[in-house]
Amino acid sequence: MPDNLFPRPEHDHGSCIEHAIGRAHEICAEKSVRLTALRESVLRVLLSSHKALGAYEIIERLQTDGRRLAPISVYRIIDVLLSAGLAHRLESKNAFFACLSEHDSANSMLVLVCDGCYRVAEAEAPDAWGAIKSVTQSSGFAVTETILEIQGTCADCRKTTRPAA
Ligand SMILES: [Zn+2]
Ligand SMILES: [Zn+2]
Ligand SMILES: [Zn+2]
Repeated sequence: MPDNLFPRPEHDHGSCIEHAIGRAHEICAEKSVRLTALRESVLRVLLSSHKALGAYEIIERLQTDGRRLAPISVYRIIDVLLSAGLAHRLESKNAFFACLSEHDSANSMLVLVCDGCYRVAEAEAPDAWGAIKSVTQSSGFAVTETILEIQGTCADCRKTTRPAA
């Protein structure tokens, strides 16, 4: 388990972006998903920080030659990114964040959300998923959705009142 799920504020975020975009191109090629310029721009907006963004924040930040994209178009693009696993929905905040972890399925991950800086990080936690699976299976409960989101304060926010980037 890495101790730096939330990167230090002074980290080289450019390399996070570069790495995630490279990985996005690989995943899209593998899954035969077209990473159009517009889809990539939406992904880049999400990648601009480690924070989750609501659909309207995404629209505001999108640079599309002065044109404002309709919410429905943005939601369609987000759906493509979600189903390709390039981004995830943050259910508790009705927002979206880019995936910066390398994992095949979301069914082994916990999502940590910092209430101080609003950053989001994913942590590998197969045991938590295993415990849920064994409880639900043994009681014959059919799961439609499992949401594992943990709210709190990241180590950087606990150390300082300065907002992290
Ligand atoms: Zn970063
Ligand atoms: Zn992820
Ligand atoms: Zn924080």
